[in-house]
Amino acid sequence: MQGKTNFVNPAQMLGMDATYEEAKVVVFGAPFDGTTSNKAGTKFAANAMRLESEGLETYSPLLDLDLEDAKVCDVGDVELSYGLAERVVDELEAAVSQILADKKIPLMIGGEHLVTYPAVKAVAARHSDIHLIHLDAHTDLREEFGGSKLSHATVLKRIWDILGDGRIFQFGIRSGTKAEFDFARVQQHTYMEPLRINTVGSVLESLAGKKVYVTIDLDVLDPSIMSGTGTPEAGGITYRELEDFFLLLRDADVEIVGADVVELAPGHDPSGVSTATACKVLREMALILAK
Ligand code: MN
Ligand code: MN
Repeated sequence: MQGKTNFVNPAQMLGMDATYEEAKVVVFGAPFDGTTSNKAGTKFAANAMRLESEGLETYSPLLDLDLEDAKVCDVGDVELSYGLAERVVDELEAAVSQILADKKIPLMIGGEHLVTYPAVKAVAARHSDIHLIHLDAHTDLREEFGGSKLSHATVLKRIWDILGDGRIFQFGIRSGTKAEFDFARVQQHTYMEPLRINTVGSVLESLAGKKVYVTIDLDVLDPSIMSGTGTPEAGGITYRELEDFFLLLRDADVEIVGADVVELAPGHDPSGVSTATACKVLREMALILAK
């Protein structure tokens, strides 16, 4: 119609504009950074990414998949009780449970890594036999941190409390206490590949036919490309290595029942590269989940 004005709402992730009803994948923000141990700011990640995503294409040449053909819906952020970790955990669990009850796949944007705990809790309540793929610089296996059992430094331990032995696969890990590394490597409560992600392919093969939740703590990437995070840790993987992971995940014979991308703190990288990188990670994950 001539003279028609098109209004654009920039507060939605590029290409993630399916209706909730038709969506296969539901993207949402979990803007919580209440237990962050070093530099805070992850609660600003989702909105920074929504604006930055305009600089992306909807098509991924790597995956040969396009958001234009994918049923992905960005529903915005979950309203949270700031600062109260216990309540936030309950609120996020309820939000993820609702998405699962509607037979959709949740793809959460952190927030700090604690937000993965309620998401896995909800997924494990709905599906049996869940396995977790975890990319991170950090073990996140402390029993408690700063007197609290709910922290982004304890999140994997809380998930282990739910899933138990043999179900957690950790990659890229290069920081933690000796006790945490022993918990994984000596006592073998989790599978851990320190420093690298080279065995992702064989692990995914071993999980054929299983249900999997994927959590990506962006600080798994080297700080040279991901300085916008609260706890940067040198010696990380390259984006190219992460691309190899995406290709393996796209082709893996597993059912991904949920995923998240956490720990972007956009304010710590004024260049914007970290936020742009996070958007690309989110796009690839959305495409893999929606395929
Ligand atoms: Mn983490
Ligand atoms: Mn980390």
